[in-house]
Amino acid sequence: MDSITLSDVLFGPTGTVWLYSMLTVIIAMTLLVSIRLLLSRRKIGYFSMIVALGIVLIQYGQLIAKAFSPQMSDVEAFAALLLKVLAFVMINIGIYQLYNPTRKRDIVTFMFFVLATATVSLTYWLAPNWLQSGDDNSRLLRPLGLELYLFVLLFLSFLLVNPRIGQNGKYQAILTVYFVTHTVHMANLYLFDANQPALRLLEQTLPFVLHSILFLFIFERVIELMQAIYMSSITDGLTRLYNRKYFQNRVHQAVQQRMPVSVIFSDIDNFKKLNDTKGHHMGDQVLKQVAQIVREETDEAGICGRYGGEEMVVLITDPDASAGALAEQIRSRVEAETIVTVSMGYSRLKKGVGPDELVKQADEAMYKAKTSGKNKVVGWE
Ligand code: GH3
Ligand code: MG
Ligand code: MG
Repeated sequence: MDSITLSDVLFGPTGTVWLYSMLTVIIAMTLLVSIRLLLSRRKIGYFSMIVALGIVLIQYGQLIAKAFSPQMSDVEAFAALLLKVLAFVMINIGIYQLYNPTRKRDIVTFMFFVLATATVSLTYWLAPNWLQSGDDNSRLLRPLGLELYLFVLLFLSFLLVNPRIGQNGKYQAILTVYFVTHTVHMANLYLFDANQPALRLLEQTLPFVLHSILFLFIFERVIELMQAIYMSSITDGLTRLYNRKYFQNRVHQAVQQRMPVSVIFSDIDNFKKLNDTKGHHMGDQVLKQVAQIVREETDEAGICGRYGGEEMVVLITDPDASAGALAEQIRSRVEAETIVTVSMGYSRLKKGVGPDELVKQADEAMYKAKTSGKNKVVGWE
């Protein structure tokens, strides 16, 4: 019975089967995360990544099956190469779609790459006739078109996908590792007739790095999407301030913990008239502007929310901040920088006052500002 040596494990077919089997585990895990993502979001774009990983699995399945019989037929060698190219194209489309909505334009781009790949594939079958060279040369020349095409695809991914997605550091790392792997593969194939053991080992182990980064990339994207869902559940879409429910929760929490907080309540003056005369779109723009000023002025002192239509509120948690001074700062900036003015009220938390009452006091103070001429700040007493 033959015993397996270290050299067999590292350089022989047994090693190849081992390495690629472990690799398929990483790929299968990436596939599971992608399927999970597709099920929770039901965005058709996420399907590309699943198809891409399916192709990668078939690709490595073929490599494992062929590990013990290095002599592949032409058709098998062609299939292996085509799967490699298709997997690369699909993974990049998948990554692109993790960050972008699917548009008609993308389908055209996709069809273009399918056609380009098919055209380049022809060189595999036509090369021997063109060159009419000996069998040995044609064996090396046939795959050259598709192998070089992968370098073009790498370059295009860097140019077209990289600027349109997030996590650029990870994506560039993926492309770089792929570039190195492919360069090593080409060097081994064309300089050493695929027989340089160290280069072959490198070519077989680098995909681990590649697929680990890809796994982290997709995993991170799932977390990003979950965070985005959470943020949209506690913020207002137009102004990006916290919504009323979240704001009220924070006031309740602060009052429960007996923190020395204050609440500012602001309401835009004559906003209905602005909407009626300049249109709703202009009204929305002004709302955003005012929200931006409120946010900038209170960023360090507390949190701000949109309480109702054009009513914004601030919970001041910094004990050193003065609610009256902050409100005045906001009022004067709104008057100077926008086409509207705001009336504001504020109240400081006193013993025995509940959270809802605290907000109501600030609202009542704001009402006093309205009835005494608007565009002013009134404290509750
Ligand atoms: P006052 O000075 O007394 O506050 O007068 P006002 O016109 O601002 O007060 P009122 O509460 O009567 O009107 C508020 C208006 O705000 C009514 C509504 O058309 C407008 N509004 C509420 N939410 C939005 C929004 O999201 N976008 C736009 N453009 N308008 C909004
Ligand atoms: Mg108003
Ligand atoms: Mg109002």
